[in-house]
Amino acid sequence: MQQPDRIAHPWGERTPYGRDGRWPARVDQHLADGVAPEDVQRWAKSASLLHSNGDAMDIAVVDGRIVGVRGRADDRVNGGRLGPKDLFGWQANASPDRLTRPLVRMGGRLVETDWDTAMGRVVAESKRLLERRGPSAIGFYTTGQLFLEEYYTLAAIARGAIGTNHLDGNTRLCTATAAAALKETFACDGQPGSFTDVDHADVIALFGHNAAETQPVLWMRILDRLAGPNPPALVCVDPRDTPVADAARESGGVHLAPLPGTNVALMNGLLHEIVENGWVDREYVEAHTVGFAELEKRVQEYPPDRVAEICRIEPEQIRSAARVLGRAERLLSTVLQGFYQSHQATAAAVQVNNLNLIRGMLGRPGCGILQMNGQPTAQNTRECGADGDLTGFRNWENDAHVAELARHWNVEPTRIPHMAPPTHAMQMFRYAEQGSIRMLWVSGTNPAVSLPELVRIRRILSQRRLFLVVQDIFLSETAQLADVVLPAATWGEKTGTFTNADRTVHFSEKAVDPPGHGRPDLDIFLDYARRMDFRDKDGRPFPQWHDGESAFDAWAACSAGRPCDYSGLSHAKLREAPSGIQWPCTAENPDGTERLYTDGRFWSAPDHCESYGRDLVTGAPLEETEYRALNPDAKAILKAAEYLPPHERPSDEYPFVLITGRTIHHFHTRTKTGRVPELQAAAPDVWVECSKDDARRLGLADGDAAEVATPRGTITARVRIGDIRGGVLFVPFHYGYWDTTGSGPGGGRGRAANELTVTDWDPASKQPLFKTAAARLGGAS
Ligand code: SF4
Repeated sequence: MQQPDRIAHPWGERTPYGRDGRWPARVDQHLADGVAPEDVQRWAKSASLLHSNGDAMDIAVVDGRIVGVRGRADDRVNGGRLGPKDLFGWQANASPDRLTRPLVRMGGRLVETDWDTAMGRVVAESKRLLERRGPSAIGFYTTGQLFLEEYYTLAAIARGAIGTNHLDGNTRLCTATAAAALKETFACDGQPGSFTDVDHADVIALFGHNAAETQPVLWMRILDRLAGPNPPALVCVDPRDTPVADAARESGGVHLAPLPGTNVALMNGLLHEIVENGWVDREYVEAHTVGFAELEKRVQEYPPDRVAEICRIEPEQIRSAARVLGRAERLLSTVLQGFYQSHQATAAAVQVNNLNLIRGMLGRPGCGILQMNGQPTAQNTRECGADGDLTGFRNWENDAHVAELARHWNVEPTRIPHMAPPTHAMQMFRYAEQGSIRMLWVSGTNPAVSLPELVRIRRILSQRRLFLVVQDIFLSETAQLADVVLPAATWGEKTGTFTNADRTVHFSEKAVDPPGHGRPDLDIFLDYARRMDFRDKDGRPFPQWHDGESAFDAWAACSAGRPCDYSGLSHAKLREAPSGIQWPCTAENPDGTERLYTDGRFWSAPDHCESYGRDLVTGAPLEETEYRALNPDAKAILKAAEYLPPHERPSDEYPFVLITGRTIHHFHTRTKTGRVPELQAAAPDVWVECSKDDARRLGLADGDAAEVATPRGTITARVRIGDIRGGVLFVPFHYGYWDTTGSGPGGGRGRAANELTVTDWDPASKQPLFKTAAARLGGAS
């Protein structure tokens, strides 16, 4: 069954359905030219790797090669649909320039070697540093694209064996605020809502979430509701006039395009209207929340006229959006990078939680909150503790939680660092810059393109005193700077599990062998542990597990009794299940859990919670005693926030606000999607989007070469005149240098958006700011 052109029509054909109906199935498929479905010898079970939606798919195999994919009709997430990146992205696996052998730096050059030599260097350097400088000299920077089993193992090695606090994921760039906002409101991570809430909602509000491009299959679900009977109204908050914004207007909802960096003011304005107009569910608030009085007082300071001035939108727009939200019977709110990558990221995302809570819109069909993720397995980095969290949503400030984790690992509690919050990525790079981190092991990510202020990042990664290990499938910009490069297997070449943005766990089967000597990340981590001879309290090799299945079982045991409880899941069960299964999943609840907090009870009891919360302005962690006083009865917390202007504001020299972001055709730093002909042809090079008026004023036409500059750097990009608010520039951040000049711009012109961005982060979530830099635009010389 060949499909229509899914580059030109990314969301495919509509399959309309009505409120409370079942989303009809539609099976999308793409096979290589000349391959018919009957030629396929085997279909291996998996889910999408190139976004956070977790679309279930099967991988087609012929003669040991991947030849295509098809969606799975029975799956709860996608009902068979796939997005453009899913349909075409698998081709990257077979790129001729995959890494096939380990590399080590010799005489300044990376040269091919064998695993013993490469691992020997890593182990020797680890031992040397542990002896001379202690565990804090070693840091791990991982990704949102490995499997659950791999993160759990990495967390055990870093925190339980080495005892370093320096372990984080590039999920810091995308989902840190999702986790932080959930922890502030519910005192625990865990997505309350479910994608099935789209089927029941009468209002869907997307805050800084361009679902049409970032989660095309979720957007198909929304489009199908919009095309059916009783369609929902949409509220869209985005400074760009995206397909979501168009749909919002057409649905009878509202598109709000606030000035970047003003989300907290906007949210306070919306909450002000909800309170003023009596749209608050007082009974729910009274029974299930704390903090309403303070929130009510705070939002009084944000009447629409004041907010309109801050956000530079019309007051009436705020009132209309508030009317839609305030009168909704079933409100689904979703949040993503437009909120997360701003200077008051957590404060703004928390106000979305507040909106649903004060409207009593939680834990019922259609009433949910989805603080979205950016990457396919970001959820697992958080659960497993391979980012700035303690494994199993445990609280690093609670000694009982640390002791419990130590029991699972059979190590001394003192081995697990917990005297300070786990180190976040931005701080890890700072430590590497200052010289206290001397070995950085980067797995499955490309900080030389994705972190802010690249001149600085390249400088840090290139230091001679820093021993840089990069584990990847391509010689990325970061790998080019490494001392040791370890060739990894990727999706389709290894077996494991992963969890999407609505807690759905999928099984991903090995379809083919990795090329050359590439190895699954799990094997690499376990090999390292054995070579380091890590031992548990009883002298047994640590980690005690030895493959994917035993790693999963160890994790399931470790998660038991925690909110992300996997104890009712196993590889065998997930392999056989027709659909992914949502955690928590236990023996008593074997089919998983569609929505959290259906009974209005939360994981926020002081002894159980994952976090005591933070000050949203300074980011300082709250003390246990403060938390006990604030929330003794385990309710949800309504946390108010004051609007604060961004640190870097437009000036005469840099009159624009620059935001960076994604496009539907590429993923992250394009290491995979840039090697896929259809995706690369659809978006071959970087561009800068500006408004018609700004382009006219600057004498720029569509397609002109332009220079975008900030106090950090300059890039050259083609002008795209788009529906973006005046005074704002958008640059996609996917484009680096691997297919042009190497690891950086060399002597040439900059191309990566992160040459421009600032080293700064949200105080609570530590997510870097990609949405509020001051910039200049002009014709390129
Ligand atoms: S593109 Fe990268 S930073 Fe952005 S959401 Fe995806 S994985 Fe995260």
